[in-house]
Amino acid sequence: MQAFEATNVYFDQAARLLDLTGNMRTMMITPDRELRVEVAIEMDNGEIGNFIGYRIQHDNARGPFKGGLRYHPHVDQDESRALASLMTWKTAVVDLPYGGAKGGMNCDPAKLSRGELERLTRRFVQQIHDFIGPHKDIPAPDMGTDAQVMAWILNEYSKYHGFHPACVTGKPVEYHGSAGREAATGYGVMLCTREMLKRQGQTIAGTTFTIQGYGNVGSFTARFLHDLGGIIIGVSDASGAILRPEGLDIAALERHVTVARRVAGFKGGEVGTNDQLLTMPVDVLIPAALGGVFDKTIAESVQAKLIVEAANGPTWPEADVVFTRRGIPVVPDILANAGGVIVSYFEWVQNLQHFRWPLEQVRREQETRQVESFGKVYDLAQKKGVSMRTAAFMLAINRVGRARVLGGI
Ligand code: NAD
Repeated sequence: MQAFEATNVYFDQAARLLDLTGNMRTMMITPDRELRVEVAIEMDNGEIGNFIGYRIQHDNARGPFKGGLRYHPHVDQDESRALASLMTWKTAVVDLPYGGAKGGMNCDPAKLSRGELERLTRRFVQQIHDFIGPHKDIPAPDMGTDAQVMAWILNEYSKYHGFHPACVTGKPVEYHGSAGREAATGYGVMLCTREMLKRQGQTIAGTTFTIQGYGNVGSFTARFLHDLGGIIIGVSDASGAILRPEGLDIAALERHVTVARRVAGFKGGEVGTNDQLLTMPVDVLIPAALGGVFDKTIAESVQAKLIVEAANGPTWPEADVVFTRRGIPVVPDILANAGGVIVSYFEWVQNLQHFRWPLEQVRREQETRQVESFGKVYDLAQKKGVSMRTAAFMLAINRVGRARVLGGI
């Protein structure tokens, strides 16, 4: 099964409970537009570098397309399609006036120089600038891209269309970005974890956590949980895992990663593997790296009591069935990691109004929206006796479907 098909399995589980007609289903799952562009650049050694860029615009019934750009060797059309579709449901779950899109480039940013990364990004924008824009499609960071890449996108886009800072979000704060955007996804993961634990009569303080992925989302999640008394007993990234049953010193780990750019080599814990991290006994397991990490076998071995999906699409449907059977609740990606797009929305609003919000306001507004959305999904799941993933999809499909009907096909 491929990633897009997996997303549609989740869609169908919810759609069946909503009596969606076959034609409506087809219209809702089919992407509106798929761009595939050649991105050829001159490499530092004078040779030509060949890359392929994608931008999948899945649905814009509720507003402009919105979604991240991923730079990773696994990026392809199917993965971008799956992620674009997830964005449609995510923006609807947290009730933002957006649709869903996703894109990226099949490259390994770790192997590119800064100059190559910049040329690649600018060339990509040259290929797609007519299809993006503040009221058409607004990219943002994802795996392998950051605020600097977003700054290049704004600069390149402006050469064609004039000054439009709202054409991309996740920009540096000094270059039309928003306070709180960089940490927003991790902050949202913490809020959703807090809300879920509250429903179970627990708190973050004293609870143990493992986190797979120590990039933007994983590291901020770790910091926020740690600050509230959470005990992070293991983290991992592409270089391996670091485990410490008594809890890692997150400040020391951050200092190490700032210099080494990886968790490997950190002396404050035992060296482990990613599989060990995913299957060790823990209260809450947080995947915050790639998609598709939980297959049937891993799902049978997971010893966590709760899973909070910070990554997009970490759970294959076959693993989801296992988690349900084993009574392990899952806070689904389209709810748990929506903090990034929520604060991207705030950034877009600030850019359109040429106005700046202080960090406290961003955090307050994010918390209100996130806690409200969590409550709606949780209550619907309880009422209908379904998983939180199915409830989140039901809520989203209803909202997107309503917009389609009201706006006219
Ligand atoms: P990032 O590039 O900053 O970090 C990714 C991390 O995953 C790195 O630590 C990397 O080493 C690690 N990793 C890569 N391959 C791995 C492997 N095989 N095993 C273990 N770790 C591995 O990316 P990010 O922005 O933190 O995104 C992480 C996830 O969160 C992605 O699934 C992304 O789609 C999702 N997400 C990100 C945002 C955002 O605002 N950045 C928002 C919503 C969802």
